[in-house]
Amino acid sequence: MKIRGYRAGRIIEWIRVLRAERVGPIGIARLAITGLSAIINGRLPPEIAKARYRICVRCPVFDPKLRRCRNIYDGEYLGCGCYMPFKVSASKPGEKCWARSGGENSKEGWE
Ligand code: SF4
Repeated sequence: MKIRGYRAGRIIEWIRVLRAERVGPIGIARLAITGLSAIINGRLPPEIAKARYRICVRCPVFDPKLRRCRNIYDGEYLGCGCYMPFKVSASKPGEKCWARSGGENSKEGWE
């Protein structure tokens, strides 16, 4: 079964990420809005989403188990905490991911 082009299993994975993030109501709301906008607005062309996702899986911030943008480095949480299969499809072209928005000259991540 698919919902707006997404396999139902993706919804279950997204809910796992929301539970894992435990960032309080505002953080959960932010992550939920990202996920819901992906579901409601549909997907970007798959070639854009796939190119972004390929960058994510090579990124040290990527958590492959939950497919989220989150990792711990030097005891500090890095990443936006978003479920990437939704975010790579929902972010409009030109929007920057967590790593790319880290600084004016940042070339990491995608946009
Ligand atoms: S920082 Fe950017 S490239 Fe890295 S996992 Fe997060 S969204 Fe993907």
